[in-house]
Amino acid sequence: MGLCPFHADKNPSMTVNSETGRYKCWSCGAGGDVFTWVMERRHVDFPEALEILAREAGITLTKRNPEEAARRKSNADAMEEALKFFREQLTRSTAARDYCERRGLDHETREMWELGYAPDVSEALATHLKKAGFNLAECRDLFLVEADSSGGYYDKFRGRLMFPIRDERGTLVAFGGRLLGQGNAKYINSGDTPLFRKSKVLYGFNRARAKIAELGVSVLVEGYLDVIACFRAGVTNAVASLGTSLTEDHAQMLKKWSTQAIILYDSDAAGQKAALRALEIFEAQSLRARVAVLAEGEDPDSLLGKRGPAAVQEAVARNVSPLEFRLLSMEKRLKPAEPEFWAEAVTLLSATSDDLELERHLIRLAPQYPDLKDPAAAQKALRRMVERARPSGKVPAGGNVMPPRFGGRTETKTHATSLHAAEVVLFRALLEKEFRRQAWVFARNPDLMSTPAGERLARAVGASFPVGEPIGEPTLWLSRVGTAEDQDLLASLTLDLRGGEVTVEVLTDSVAKLRNLAATRQRTRKQEVAKTEDEKQAILLAMRRQNPDWKEKAKDVEDRFD
Ligand code: ATP
Ligand code: MN
Repeated sequence: MGLCPFHADKNPSMTVNSETGRYKCWSCGAGGDVFTWVMERRHVDFPEALEILAREAGITLTKRNPEEAARRKSNADAMEEALKFFREQLTRSTAARDYCERRGLDHETREMWELGYAPDVSEALATHLKKAGFNLAECRDLFLVEADSSGGYYDKFRGRLMFPIRDERGTLVAFGGRLLGQGNAKYINSGDTPLFRKSKVLYGFNRARAKIAELGVSVLVEGYLDVIACFRAGVTNAVASLGTSLTEDHAQMLKKWSTQAIILYDSDAAGQKAALRALEIFEAQSLRARVAVLAEGEDPDSLLGKRGPAAVQEAVARNVSPLEFRLLSMEKRLKPAEPEFWAEAVTLLSATSDDLELERHLIRLAPQYPDLKDPAAAQKALRRMVERARPSGKVPAGGNVMPPRFGGRTETKTHATSLHAAEVVLFRALLEKEFRRQAWVFARNPDLMSTPAGERLARAVGASFPVGEPIGEPTLWLSRVGTAEDQDLLASLTLDLRGGEVTVEVLTDSVAKLRNLAATRQRTRKQEVAKTEDEKQAILLAMRRQNPDWKEKAKDVEDRFD
C-alpha cells in the first residue's frame, strides 16, 4: 500500500497486488495492470507501453506482420540516410551555414535540431540514396524524390535548409525545407506518406513532451524556427503544427499531456486569425487555452533575435484569456463608432461566466460607448445588454412553475402547458360568449401575463381586437388572432381543464392572481437592479484593492496593439 501517484494523496490509498498483478486506488479509483500503469504514468499509448516494458524485461518483440515490419524498417532507414546526407551537406555549404548564423542558428542549435541542407542540385539526394542501395520508388513514397517522365528520379528538396520532423516517439517521419533566400514556396514540407500524417504530428513534440507534462502547459507556435527560438529562450514546452492549421488530433495530443495550451502565433493578420481558429479547436476539445499576444510584426523567432530570451519568456507569460483576445482582435477590426463593435462586444461578453473578467471589460469599454457620456451609465447599459444576450437571460424572473396537469391521464401535450393556470382561465374565458367582454379587457394586456407565451397571446389579442371584444363563435374570429401557433394555442385551451370551469369568481380570482404575480415581478426586478449596483461597487472596490494599477495594465495591452 502506498501513496497514489494519480491524485494528490496524503494517506496511502493505492494498493498493489502481486498475485493478481493489479493496482487500485481506493480514493480516486485509478486501477489497472502493468500496461495501464505505464500508459497512465508516462502518457503513452499501448504499443509504446508494450515496447517500454519489453525493453525493461529484455524481451524482443516480434511483429505479427513481418512484411509490414520490414517495410517500416526500410522506410526508416531511407529517411535516416536522407537526414545523414542533408546534415553532411550543411557542413559543406558555406552559404547554408552563413544563413544559419544570420538567423541565430549556431552550431549547438544545428546539432540539437539535426538541421541539414539540401543542395541546389537536381539529383543530389537521389544519386546518394541509389548508391546506398535504396529503392527510389520507395523513396518517392516517402516524399524524398520525384519521378521524371524518363523513368529517372530527382530531388524534392533543393537549395533548402532542412528541418527533420520526428514524431512523438522520435521516429523520423518527414522533413520541412526552407529556401535560403527569398522566393516562391518559402517552405516545402513532406506531404502525407506511409510514415507521416501531418494532421497528427507536432514539430518539437518529442523534445517538449516531458516539459509539457511537468508544467501541464504547452506552448503552440506557428513555425519550425519559432519552436527552435522558444527552446533557445528556455521555453522548452513549445511545439508547432506543420504548415497546416491546428487539427483536433493535435489538440488531443496536447490534452493528453497538459491541462492548458498557450497559443503564441505571429502577430500578423494571418497569425491572429489562425489563433482564433486554434482557440475554437481547443475549446471544442475542452482544453483550457490562453493567447500570448506579440507586438505588431513579431513572431517568437524575430522577438528572440531582437530582444533576447527574456522577451520571449515574458511574451509567453503575458497571456490573456480567450475572451480578452477575441475582444482585442474585434477592437482592431472595428471602431466604437460602428454599431457592429458593440454588437460583437456584447455577444462575446455574454458568453463568459467569469463575472470579474466581465466587469473588467465593461469598465474598460464603457468610456468608448458613443451614445452615453457618463461611463457609469454606459456600463449599466452595457451590462443590461450583456445580460439580455445571455442564453439564461431568457428565463423569466421568478419562474413559473406549472401546476401538474391533473388526472395524470391527459398526457396528450398541448402547448397550453407553457401558460400559467391563471392565464389559461383568462384566455379560455375569452372563448366563452358569456365572459368574452370581461376577459378581453385583461387578455390584451401583456404586462399582466407571467409567461412568455401569455405575453405573446396578449399582444396578438390586443393587435386583432384593439377597440372591442371579438364577436361570435371562436371559429369565426380565431383565424384573425396572431400566428397559426397562437391560434393553435388558443384553440387547445378548450381541452385544458386547469382552473376548472370558468365562472365570474374563477375569472376574477385569476386576474387577481396575475396582478399579484406582476407586482412581485416588478419588486424583484427593482431589488435585482439594486443588488447588481451593490455587487458592482463591491467588485470594483475589490479590484482596486487587489490591483491598483489595472488601468495601466489595460492601457499596456492596448498599447501593444497600436
Ligand atoms: P521564417 O522566419 O523563416 O520566415 P516562419 O516560421 O516565421 O519562418 P511563417 O511564414 O510564419 O514562417 O510560417 C510558419 C510555418 O508555416 C512554417 O514553419 C512552415 O511550416 C509553414 N509554411 C510557411 N510558408 C509555407 C509555404 N509556402 N508552404 C508550406 N508551408 C509553409
Ligand atoms: Mn519567422
